[in-house]
Amino acid sequence: MRVHVDRELCEIHAQCVFAAPEVFDLDADDELVYDPAPSAGQREPVRQAVQLCPARAITVTEG
Ligand code: SF4
Repeated sequence: MRVHVDRELCEIHAQCVFAAPEVFDLDADDELVYDPAPSAGQREPVRQAVQLCPARAITVTEG
């Protein structure tokens, strides 16, 4: 599973951080940081993050 966040769209709503805190986080400057290749066990939290993101900035590809 590969995760990509379009930083042009991302507005730091942080819904993804609540949904999948092991994959998404905000750094000290409130910039989004994320794991682009999370483990398979993170699939469901990541799926929720995709659905919750108000900016639709998260895309996931399998493989
Ligand atoms: S929920 Fe979407 S807009 Fe908000 S920080 Fe995460 S990726 Fe960015």
